[in-house]
Amino acid sequence: MDNIKVFDGHNDTLLNLHLPRRGERRSFFQRSDLGHLDLPRAREGGFGGGFFACYVPYPQDDDRNEESALTRTEDQQIDPEYARSFADDLVADLFGLQSEGGLRVVRTVGELERCLREGVVAAILHFEGAENLGPDPAALEELFEMGLRSLGLVWSRPNAYAHGVPFRFPSSPDTGPGLTEAGKDLVRECNRLGVLIDLSHLNERGFWDVAELSEAPLVATHSNAHALCPASRNLTDPQLAAIRDSGGMVGVNFAVGFLREDGGESEDTPLKTVVRHVEYLVERVGIDGVGFGSDFDGAKVPKELGDVSGMPRLLAALRDGGYDDTALEKLARGNWVRVLRTTWQG
Ligand SMILES: [Zn+2]
Repeated sequence: MDNIKVFDGHNDTLLNLHLPRRGERRSFFQRSDLGHLDLPRAREGGFGGGFFACYVPYPQDDDRNEESALTRTEDQQIDPEYARSFADDLVADLFGLQSEGGLRVVRTVGELERCLREGVVAAILHFEGAENLGPDPAALEELFEMGLRSLGLVWSRPNAYAHGVPFRFPSSPDTGPGLTEAGKDLVRECNRLGVLIDLSHLNERGFWDVAELSEAPLVATHSNAHALCPASRNLTDPQLAAIRDSGGMVGVNFAVGFLREDGGESEDTPLKTVVRHVEYLVERVGIDGVGFGSDFDGAKVPKELGDVSGMPRLLAALRDGGYDDTALEKLARGNWVRVLRTTWQG
């Protein structure tokens, strides 16, 4: 029924394909029951593209999901040399997918819209954690030239720029200090180049530092409402108000641990729970400030959704919730396109 094209704020498909223990050597080009996202299932689900994250796990964490509320400590920094070399492998993987066709790395909104029209998966190269730049932050410009268009200052651990929010439940996101001087410089540099700054995984003080400094709309690519699920990874009402005031947006995360009010990891989480977060975020940020940030291949998602091919079921649930075509188009991709146009300045 719903053939609305979706553009999505976050997936961990590159890592899932990269690490054999996770992806079990599935191919992006062949339909699989493993993971959440491949080209055949993307076409089935109307997935027009999204942010493809380069996330570097701790060396000992190779078999874990990126988002996991399991008890773990995220207080260790990761060596920037290691992070950069791992991220370089993921970047090479992404351009490898592009060279086989069916997916294109996009650098402008024009390119993104062309992909959506032509049915080619539009991929935004996103770094999840600025340690992936390597030891010298000046690498940002070189990576920008190569195609990097989105950067999370941190994953849920500290680095030279900021402090990520550790996975806690229930917990405030106010878990530590704000940005370092290097972090503030990096925000200015992202603004200068037109690189989107992703606030998901940043702790609350870091969030407010970016809010004060950045000239771009505030964006959390894959986070939910703290009022409905008090996980440290979710956004409080004052944060949502700041995002609204900046003309920014939130990508709704399908990770069950960030959806459920008990913070549990059960896949028996109804789609209605996703709808409830959308409704709440729309109430707080506005219909122009909410989209999707699925976390496919990086988290446990509701069984009722299954994988990317289940997106039409979510759109149908939102339609049942009262969203008309115009609203659904905004939620599904229009808001991402708008925010990217402002942020990238082109
Ligand atoms: Zn994440």
